[in-house]
Amino acid sequence: MRTRVGIIGGGIMGLALAQRLSARGMEVSLFERDRQLGGLSTYHDYGPFFWDRFYHVILPSDRHLIGFLQDIGLKAQLRWNPARTGLYADRRFHSLSNTIELLRFPRVGPIGKVRLALAVLHCLRMRDWRVLEKVTVEAWLTKLCGRRTYENFWKPLLLAKLGEHYKRVSAVFIWTYITRIYSARDRAAHREHLGHVAGGYRTVIGRLGELIRAQGGDLRSEAAVKAIRPRPEGGLWIDGDGRREPFDKVICTSPVDVLRRLAGNDLLEVTSGRTSVEYLGVVCLVLVTSRPVTPFYVLNIADARVPFTGAIGMSTVVSPEETAGLYLTYFPKYVLSTDPLLSESDDTIRRQFLEGVRLMYPELAAEEIVGAHVNRAMKVQPLQVLDYSSLVPKAITKHPDFYVLNTSQFVNSTLNNNEVIRAVDEFVETYGSQLEQVRQAIPPCAVTMA
Ligand SMILES: Cc1cc2nc3c(=O)[nH]c(=O)nc-3n(C[C@H](O)[C@H](O)[C@H](O)COP(=O)(O)OP(=O)(O)OC[C@H]3O[C@@H](n4cnc5c(N)ncnc54)[C@H](O)[C@@H]3O)c2cc1C
Repeated sequence: MRTRVGIIGGGIMGLALAQRLSARGMEVSLFERDRQLGGLSTYHDYGPFFWDRFYHVILPSDRHLIGFLQDIGLKAQLRWNPARTGLYADRRFHSLSNTIELLRFPRVGPIGKVRLALAVLHCLRMRDWRVLEKVTVEAWLTKLCGRRTYENFWKPLLLAKLGEHYKRVSAVFIWTYITRIYSARDRAAHREHLGHVAGGYRTVIGRLGELIRAQGGDLRSEAAVKAIRPRPEGGLWIDGDGRREPFDKVICTSPVDVLRRLAGNDLLEVTSGRTSVEYLGVVCLVLVTSRPVTPFYVLNIADARVPFTGAIGMSTVVSPEETAGLYLTYFPKYVLSTDPLLSESDDTIRRQFLEGVRLMYPELAAEEIVGAHVNRAMKVQPLQVLDYSSLVPKAITKHPDFYVLNTSQFVNSTLNNNEVIRAVDEFVETYGSQLEQVRQAIPPCAVTMA
């Protein structure tokens, strides 16, 4: 008898879970609220081609993700390309892609450069991230590197990654960031290279769909789950769109606030932290152009006139052959999920952000802009403020057939798909056999609710 598993959320976490569990012989049904599968890693129709809605790359050190791509037969589709990093400040572009360029960087003096190198080394050697939860990232970096280096080097990076609210974020953020970025540089094979799967995440999502369906799995989009209820005979009901379906096991991958709405007190205990968690959202202008806009994959921006805080040159690491001979650049701005910018019209955002593009790249002619798309996500990641690990609401399931796995609970890592796959594999390793044990056969039928 195959276990019937219901998975809520069709992002990479839900899809990877569905693939792993159906490969073990379970009968999986996945419920996704949106029209398209993939969640934050989904794709977008840019007209002549599809590419990721938000910019995604793979680091050489993403071993869980690369292992997963190998398992689903996509390793041969991985492409690696060198990537450059820069900073826009004082109306100039500074390249900061290697040690020589860093040594030449005029905004940080010689002593500042030595302190910068020592700060990175210190970070790489640190193991106990908990001490960093007690100090703001601004205070910690200023102490290690000095005020001038902080203002001229670190602050633009923090603004690009966290928006204006970086001041409330703890030093754990920079520790996780530096550890992830520098671990990538250690690998001799792809030194400072960034990877992607040919065709972007659309290829990954498509392959996962094929594999899950081939194992008898059922993937449903536009299928928002409204409630999860216990069945007196064992297992659970999933309610959605006027249907109630029985499952032996249910796994929820959506954030804790969604979980709270779906599951009652008989299923879930949420130990709330001292205050509620604030989330960052992102607004992103995506330009499709007939010529390259920037030579940098990441350009951090320190210029108050510009309404976005970074420029991501996707076409510096993805061959234009993959994007219909055109060039793709993302201009993101991170804001709190309550910020009015997230509910501004596409036209307003497009107009404001294009003004910033014109300021930085006056040579880019209007006729060279083939498309200007506005993508946004309300909740991307929690704002990791001081003592964040004690604030995170912990979701504890009270029902033996109900499981929770989501990124809200990550406290000492940045949000990335390597961490997502690591968490999925750990979950399957821990609970795989438990999930295979069915307590009582469930008739495979749905009930229409009045
Ligand atoms: C701008 C940006 C850049 C990024 N860059 C990178 C990168 O370079 N490298 C990298 O590895 N990662 C990157 N990431 C992170 C990556 O996108 C995430 O790690 C990943 O997409 C998280 O997947 P998830 O499945 O956990 O969550 P989500 O993608 O949020 O999926 C959750 C899903 O649950 C669904 N859902 C919610 N409620 C319900 C309901 N009631 N019923 C049914 N479905 C429901 C949602 O619609 C959603 O599809 C980036 C993210 C952003 C926003």
